[in-house]
Amino acid sequence: MTFAIHGLPVARGVAIGRAVLMAGRVDVAHYFIDPMQVDAEIARLRTSRDAVVDEIHRLQQTIAAMGPKEAPHELSALLDVHLMLLQDQDLVAGVKHWIVDRMYNAEWALMTQLEVLSRQFDEMEDEYLRERKADLEQVADRILRDMKGVASPIQPQQQGRRGPAQRQQGQQDLHLEGTTDVPLVLIAHDLSPADMLQFKQSVFAGFVTDVGGRTSHTAIVARSMDIPAVVGARSASQLVRQDDWVIIDGDAGVVIVDPSPIILAEYGFKQRQAELERGRLARLKHTPAVTLDGEKVDLLANIELPEDAAAALEAGAVGVGLFRSEFLFMGRQGHLPDEEEQYHAYRRAVEGMQGLPVTIRTIDVGADKPLDDTRRDEAHLNPALGLRAIRWSLAEPAMFLTQLRALLRAAAHGKVNILVPMLAHASEIRQTLSLIDFARAELDNRGMAYGAVAVGAMIEIPAAALTLPTFLKYFDFLSIGTNDLIQYTLAIDRADESVAHLYDPAHPAVLRLVADTISACRAQGKPVSVCGEMAGDVNFTRLLLGMGLRGFSMHPAQILTVKQEVLRADTSRLAPWAQEVLAAEEPGKLLEAGL
Ligand code: PEP
Ligand code: MG
Repeated sequence: MTFAIHGLPVARGVAIGRAVLMAGRVDVAHYFIDPMQVDAEIARLRTSRDAVVDEIHRLQQTIAAMGPKEAPHELSALLDVHLMLLQDQDLVAGVKHWIVDRMYNAEWALMTQLEVLSRQFDEMEDEYLRERKADLEQVADRILRDMKGVASPIQPQQQGRRGPAQRQQGQQDLHLEGTTDVPLVLIAHDLSPADMLQFKQSVFAGFVTDVGGRTSHTAIVARSMDIPAVVGARSASQLVRQDDWVIIDGDAGVVIVDPSPIILAEYGFKQRQAELERGRLARLKHTPAVTLDGEKVDLLANIELPEDAAAALEAGAVGVGLFRSEFLFMGRQGHLPDEEEQYHAYRRAVEGMQGLPVTIRTIDVGADKPLDDTRRDEAHLNPALGLRAIRWSLAEPAMFLTQLRALLRAAAHGKVNILVPMLAHASEIRQTLSLIDFARAELDNRGMAYGAVAVGAMIEIPAAALTLPTFLKYFDFLSIGTNDLIQYTLAIDRADESVAHLYDPAHPAVLRLVADTISACRAQGKPVSVCGEMAGDVNFTRLLLGMGLRGFSMHPAQILTVKQEVLRADTSRLAPWAQEVLAAEEPGKLLEAGL
């Protein structure tokens, strides 16, 4: 039966595919195997399963040798249950099915079957049986751990497996059932930004999560992948079942489950239209971004990894306006990258941009960007107001100096700007700048080469936007982080879908702070850009141009759409209109009406 689930639109476009539900762990490899390798992959799984069975038998013998006091009866009963689950036909046959029919690698097949069985356990009436789900998870975990030590003989094949060309086929894909060419969409309760990053080069054609707001970092990474995504879909991960056909409408924020042929045909048509539009926009790649009245506009890229520089160049970006360096630090289970690793990563981004400027933001972890899943900030009531971004860097000067040295060294290879997040106090500014000087002095002492950098500040806390003279005194440029500026101005958690309707970029207070920052920079001749999601939202392009903004930094996938809007704009007409919008009680209404 067809039904729809409503969430928040994150990344445009339509994906049609079979649902893959994640049971807990997402840190396992997801790739398709070669048909020739099916037997080897099943054997790999069997070997690990047998190893776990042996391990349990050994444990049982040890327990038998102990007295009942040291080894209670429950322990040996528990091991019996584990042994039983390991031999369970539903588990074994199910995992085989995902390998043989879908060509999933063994780990992915195991996790998929675990999700199917977990759901069956959840639905059981008997409480004792329901609780056996935890045992099943432990058993799967043991097998996965064993498999970690036994590398797959098979090369992952996910890269490029599902480019946009395959994704657009829509309805025809239904006929490919049973082959690896069936598009897959990932449905999860929650995905951390680091989890999401894992899927950047993955097999999935779309994403849906139960939680999250439009500018949560999970949504931001999804947008950077340029595949349809919906967040805040509340109970999607409970309502959708493994392998259901679903349509993700990333423009409307709707997930349609088990679509009828008529709906499929309609969305297949939509997909093809979107593809035609992409082709049309691609022709603008080499057109300079200049308005009708001759104003030059810099369209820059936001990136998460050095390798994203290629997509930035491909989209025609004139530089990187925001490299979120924290993604290099995430999911490392406490082993943060050292100076050499960071230096090489920043250098790769700089060299990847082939002489264009690269603005690298110093680490901004905390709130909805934990370093890893074990470090989610549950100890503090308001992590978004806590020790995040520059506050954390200043609290960990050794870590911060390591990053600063790596950045300065990378600047010897091209134009690097350092951008500092979440500043609010003059004392923080002074401490940061003196640490940058200190890092230079350390490199001098070591006799190491480094380059000149411009240093800028993010304006993303209202306190910063209200004390601009201080920021302009100390910094070479400013970059407006609208994602946080909106969150802190309106007191709306950007990652909380339950208040997402109040997260309003067009609120007069937000627009006032943005406009004042742009004017103050222009008055002093200092460069200013917007690097929050507002810069890539085509609904705001004309307003920001009218406010005097000439630097927009966004995901590479958004650049051509914004460029089209720039090419059609006349800033001499937009400037007075922007003043009207700024004075309005509800600017959103004027924005919708347009000029
Ligand atoms: C912002 O806050 O607008 C921004 C660009 O930084 P982040 O989204 O990483 O917090
Ligand atoms: Mg921010």
